[in-house]
Amino acid sequence: MSESPVVILAGGTGGAKLARGMLDVVGDDLVVVANTADDVEIYGAYVSPDPDLCTFWLADRIDERGWGLDGDTFNVMDGLRELGVDVWFNLGDRDLAIGVERARRLAAGERLTDALASLTTALGLGARVLPMADEPVRTEVDAEGRIWPFQEFMIRAPAAGPIEDVRFAGVGEARATPEVLDALSRARAIVIGPSNPVISIGPILAVPGIREALASAPGPVVAVSPIVGGQVVKGPTERFLAWAGHEASAAGVAEAYDGLLDGIVADEPVPGLPALRTDTLMDAPESRRRVADEVLAFAGALATRSDR
Ligand code: GDP
Repeated sequence: MSESPVVILAGGTGGAKLARGMLDVVGDDLVVVANTADDVEIYGAYVSPDPDLCTFWLADRIDERGWGLDGDTFNVMDGLRELGVDVWFNLGDRDLAIGVERARRLAAGERLTDALASLTTALGLGARVLPMADEPVRTEVDAEGRIWPFQEFMIRAPAAGPIEDVRFAGVGEARATPEVLDALSRARAIVIGPSNPVISIGPILAVPGIREALASAPGPVVAVSPIVGGQVVKGPTERFLAWAGHEASAAGVAEAYDGLLDGIVADEPVPGLPALRTDTLMDAPESRRRVADEVLAFAGALATRSDR
């Protein structure tokens, strides 16, 4: 890794697409710090949806459906169904292989940081995808009269209805890893990707040590708004922002990161904060690269301001 990496905090889709654009701009200087509070142990596998999504995007292996490995088959899931297993969490065969091998490594005492690194290396990546912590942290959602583990909430809960509470179980016992602290302390820019501020970035910032490391980092901290054209591109971001008391707008996102940001990138005005207004939809390689380029230039300009 270089002297001064570009660090992106990321959940799944939004953060991953920005990371892919940034890979074109800074190559192996990219470090992604990914949310692991959505991780799930199932079918004997340890599945890390957000880090894996980022990794598959970076390696150009993401499937068209928006998750999983390109062209994966689902024979094991079919086999499980035939055995009467309730297959509520769908996982491709090769994806399952990744999760089974990861479970083996973790059971043998490997840190999650190293288990994830073995995947990026196997897929030929020089850029790094770090978990936010090595310890288990799990998002739980209180809605519809019960507490849902995050994946079950996303897949099985009714899509409407208010969210009563969100908690990150285990986060008090987690610690920022040496790798994450090192990358943040040397970063030329720290970018909070356009991911769900509450359930994708929220757990990362809740890991003891990370918020402090962001606040004291010499590099500028810039967020990219996940709201495009006044709308959420995908997923339940609006519901979770509403629970946290923020509106689904770039201003609401800035509020959610209260005090952490040196600037924000969005397609709408954001009062009270240095802002770059640009189209942030990343639906093609060119737009992903352009947004990454502009974010980095904006962060660079902020870094030279004397009033930071
Ligand atoms: P998930 O785990 O896949 O839901 O991942 P994230 O939390 O990373 O992503 C969800 C957020 O990404 C949603 O709020 C989307 O609006 C946002 N998003 C998806 N694609 C884009 C894009 O091309 N540009 C921007 N700015 N945001 C996006």
